[in-house]
Amino acid sequence: MLRNPIIIFMIVLAAGIFFSSRELQRLPDGKLHVYFLDVGQGDGALIVTPSGKQIVIDGGPAEGAMLSELSNHLPFFDRSIDMLVLSHPHLDHLFAFPDILRRYRVGRILMTGEQAALPRYQEFLGLIREQRIPILLADPDKDIDFGDGVTLDIVWPQPDLFGKTSDGNNTSVMLRILTGSGIVFFSGDAEKEEEIAALASGADMRATVLKVAHHGSKTSSETGFLLAVRPSLGIISAGKKNKFGHPNAVILDRFEALGVPLKVTSVEGMIEVRY
Ligand SMILES: [Zn+2]
Repeated sequence: MLRNPIIIFMIVLAAGIFFSSRELQRLPDGKLHVYFLDVGQGDGALIVTPSGKQIVIDGGPAEGAMLSELSNHLPFFDRSIDMLVLSHPHLDHLFAFPDILRRYRVGRILMTGEQAALPRYQEFLGLIREQRIPILLADPDKDIDFGDGVTLDIVWPQPDLFGKTSDGNNTSVMLRILTGSGIVFFSGDAEKEEEIAALASGADMRATVLKVAHHGSKTSSETGFLLAVRPSLGIISAGKKNKFGHPNAVILDRFEALGVPLKVTSVEGMIEVRY
């Protein structure tokens, strides 16, 4: 039992200092922070804009890692998220979304019209309806301006392509986060077919950081696409010793040949990019 009031006071003081310095780090600092979260074999990212707007892109392959990563980077008392983005309705990108909707007040959701019978996806749609959260359908003609120097530039897909692609991966929302000092490209699990369609649209693809599509699978990241994006850094979100062998050695070699360094969440844990 601690009976000495000075010791108790010192412990409380130390805890207070620790807590407030952690909280201060999570407050808006006039910079864009992109956290590629360590969620295992899937995708999950948190973006905090210079004025403190919070955007979550994809919800990881399980709720535990995704929720604890979010609470690591969001202020303790903050129970709201400005926008969720679902790249495409596959489990490794949406698993924690129902739990996020139960825990946080979400302002709006950007997604595509792609259908999926997955119970987890249906649960997510049910909660969106129940909570009456506005949905924005991804549309390259409708970019989203956050009013603090950050714009979400939707690159692909066109809304009229839903249901016409060979694979759900190729309905992935491709988007660029534009700031005055850097551009971060998110490409979901887009494969060669979608890369070609996006390139053919003539959209500006240039970015400084590329979230490498489909966890570094060899079915994505064609050389032509990489030459159009010309990133200075590639980031791969993949789980340790995953059964798919992601990232594929062919892709690692391709980035090396192009002189683009890569970072992988399974090796480095959470990766932060800041502008
Ligand atoms: Zn995936």
